[in-house]
Amino acid sequence: MAAIASVKVAEVREFSRIERIGTHSHIRGLGLDDALEPREVSQGMVGQLTARRAAGVVLEMIREGKIAGRAVLIAGQPGTGKTAIAMGMAQALGDNTPFTSMAGSEIYSLEMSKTEALTQAFRKSIGVRIKEETEIIEGEVVEVQIDRPATGTGAKVGKLTLKTTDMETVYDLGNKMIESLIKEKAQAGDVITIDKATGKISKLGRSFTRARDYDATGPQTRFVQCPEGELQKRKEVTHTVTLHEIDVINSRTQGFLALFSGDTGEIKSEVRDQINSKVAEWREEGKAEIVPGVLFIDEVHMLDMECFSFLNRALEDDMAPVLIMATNRGITKIRGTKYRSPHGIPIDLLDRMVIIATQPYEEKEMKQILKIRCEEEDAEMTEDALLVLTRLSLETSLRYAIQLITVANLIARKRKAMEIAVEDIKKAYTLFLDETRSTQYLKDIQDEFMF
Ligand code: ATP
Repeated sequence: MAAIASVKVAEVREFSRIERIGTHSHIRGLGLDDALEPREVSQGMVGQLTARRAAGVVLEMIREGKIAGRAVLIAGQPGTGKTAIAMGMAQALGDNTPFTSMAGSEIYSLEMSKTEALTQAFRKSIGVRIKEETEIIEGEVVEVQIDRPATGTGAKVGKLTLKTTDMETVYDLGNKMIESLIKEKAQAGDVITIDKATGKISKLGRSFTRARDYDATGPQTRFVQCPEGELQKRKEVTHTVTLHEIDVINSRTQGFLALFSGDTGEIKSEVRDQINSKVAEWREEGKAEIVPGVLFIDEVHMLDMECFSFLNRALEDDMAPVLIMATNRGITKIRGTKYRSPHGIPIDLLDRMVIIATQPYEEKEMKQILKIRCEEEDAEMTEDALLVLTRLSLETSLRYAIQLITVANLIARKRKAMEIAVEDIKKAYTLFLDETRSTQYLKDIQDEFMF
């Protein structure tokens, strides 16, 4: 247990957030107004109003902590924005709510069992907000002195004179504190704080501006007069880490470096039990609170009966995150069984879900989405080309049309054009699909456009 008590949370402050794959990088939120009503086009989101409205309600419930341990299914045809909506929710929730995204197929690995993969996904989606008290010194910089290293050792040393309420104190600076000072651009006359535990220096503001700009290139000494200095304080700081991160750090076989490689392997259940009871202790002592996050499983029909039964049980846990799933399947077999059910999900799990349905897009919505993607990829496109691309997306798929933007943009650049024209779309289309058919198609509709 000693190992758990000494968990160094400061080193893992960042969440392993969703992967921002290019496909959804234009999505910046759900595009709702203050009354949770969807705007027609906002934050990269277009149309799909009913589904976005429903997602907004779920979001509000997540924020108020009313929906932990519940499940939401986003169901609809391929390319109708199910993943986009989940990504929009992740963006809207912000950095302080853990959000984990995975595809159903990711649980099938030789390295770990299905239930281990799901357990890790669950624990990545549960945040622990840990409160700590740290002493900080606040004062006004009187003098900063940094000595250039004699030989190229790279190490920097220096002194900082800080004026607090009734005295001036000289602090010896190590490399880290100097880096911190440089990062904050702290100079004489600035009011700064020093975190006693970590040595981190933060700039609060500036009360005196006589000093020249701070410059860390060589030895220098600056003196300024100081108005009233300041105090020593205790400050409460919070770190949020996920249960999974605590698991990994405390797992003897893995260790903390595994967090970076992602190669955490299986984690022993005793480790998790110990951590659960330690976290429970922290909660009782008021040192920590649980932040239930969101676990998003795309292509949930890829899960099998064992996984569904695991999910059913895992949702009962009092720390369970909100589970959001997406599927484009209708009535189909539950994987690994001969039974058919809606979306390939067992009825008992379906029964505890709320379902959000997405609808196919109309032409003008497709066009708008394609336009946004062009902006996202910094691609200029003529109105004619956009019309052709929109038609193509109706004939093929939205996702395919989105991909053509990148290709057509490259082709246009190659011929040194400023904008993607119909001919570039045509070329991209012929390159990546059967040539005869695609040329024929564009011939059929080309009369509608000016060249
Ligand atoms: P599938 O069932 O095939 O997984 P999906 O319903 O999850 O499809 P997405 O991947 O979300 O569909 O959508 C395809 C592409 O269109 C993505 O790049 C997505 O960001 C974009 N997109 C879909 N709907 C919208 C929307 N309403 N607003 C903006 N972009 C969208």
